[in-house]
Amino acid sequence: MKRMAVIGAGIVGSTAAYYLSRYPDVQVTVFDHGIGQATKAAAGIISPWFSKRRNQAWYRMARLGADFYQNLLADLEKDGVSTDFYQQTGVCLLKKDESKLQELYDLAAARRKESPLIGDLQFRTAEQLQESFPGLTGFERLLYASGGARVEGSLLTETLLKASGAELCFQKVDLQPVDQGYVIDGRHFDSVILAAGAWLGQVLSPLGYEVDVRPQKGQLRDFKMAESTDCYPVVMPEGELDIIPFTKGSISVGASHENDQGFDLTVDLSVLDQLQKEAEGYLPKLAAADILGERVGTRAYTSDFSPFFGLVPGLPQVYAASGLGSSGLTTGPLIGRQLAHLALGEAGLLDPADYPIERYVRKG
Ligand SMILES: Cc1cc2nc3c(=O)[nH]c(=O)nc-3n(C[C@H](O)[C@H](O)[C@H](O)COP(=O)(O)OP(=O)(O)OC[C@H]3O[C@@H](n4cnc5c(N)ncnc54)[C@H](O)[C@@H]3O)c2cc1C
Repeated sequence: MKRMAVIGAGIVGSTAAYYLSRYPDVQVTVFDHGIGQATKAAAGIISPWFSKRRNQAWYRMARLGADFYQNLLADLEKDGVSTDFYQQTGVCLLKKDESKLQELYDLAAARRKESPLIGDLQFRTAEQLQESFPGLTGFERLLYASGGARVEGSLLTETLLKASGAELCFQKVDLQPVDQGYVIDGRHFDSVILAAGAWLGQVLSPLGYEVDVRPQKGQLRDFKMAESTDCYPVVMPEGELDIIPFTKGSISVGASHENDQGFDLTVDLSVLDQLQKEAEGYLPKLAAADILGERVGTRAYTSDFSPFFGLVPGLPQVYAASGLGSSGLTTGPLIGRQLAHLALGEAGLLDPADYPIERYVRKG
């Protein structure tokens, strides 16, 4: 029996645990501190096809990550597990200069050849949109893509961890290399997956590593509406603001991208009030909705904004991923499964050479 540990139960660690647990000769233990987890705080938008980022390796990962949800859903459904953390309700893209919507349409239409998941692309007027999202205003027309999805991060990780049957230990842990493996919390493991998000440096620096990953604070606010929001599409105006309807009448508004706050998790009402004010420009009835609460999480960024994964240089049988930035709910499941495959000596969809861990994790 191979004893494997996963440190971090965000989207990467939970998916890795789920896929590891499908091997009969592997015993999985997951350790999670849980504080500041990006996955639980995420807006949960899966819609990478409109991005103008020039990083081809990132885009390949993001589009394959969006596609991979279909495999994950099928795998869970085969196991008899509910997949209600994911809904493909479509996305609406808005531009201040609406003539620029054509550029987005052309980009996505070209990408649809390799990503049919994008679905239907349509320009819709404010009037046409009233049926799918009553009360949405502040624009003349927008671009709608039926394949866009929303994911409830906390429900997803909960589902995966439960389905994995892995042993769960909710605590902060250190990694200690010993002869023939590693010790975590006094227990011996043959192999370890580090899915510690923005905290990867804190896990590896005591072992003499320098890790190029910095934290970014993200906040959003959750509302309870009087109506059912189950089928409403996600609304993505320009800039930081997104309006994300979830089930049971809840709508999230966010998210901030704060680079100067380190690992701070304090709710800053001024930031959220500003986002809410902007959102009310598109959805005036938010002003009368109940506030359910605020969420704060820490994203992980590398200095060139690229995610990475692979075998940690100098630590045999230790695999890590980080730097998923603001698209980790899109790329996380694919990366998690790939880490599980790598740890068991199998190939994955992505070429690790395109996301080289040695560029970001170095022995000091
Ligand atoms: C506000 C916000 C909005 C976002 N919106 C979107 C979106 O719309 N679409 C999208 O695709 N992405 C989005 N993201 C990004 C996405 O959430 C992240 O990129 C992704 O969740 C990162 O997953 P992860 O598993 O790498 O890290 P995390 O989810 O941060 O998980 C890491 C876990 O490791 C644990 N850990 C760390 N060190 C230790 C230790 N020593 N011992 C035990 N446990 C440890 C942490 O406590 C944490 O629980 C958003 C993020 C934020 C914050």
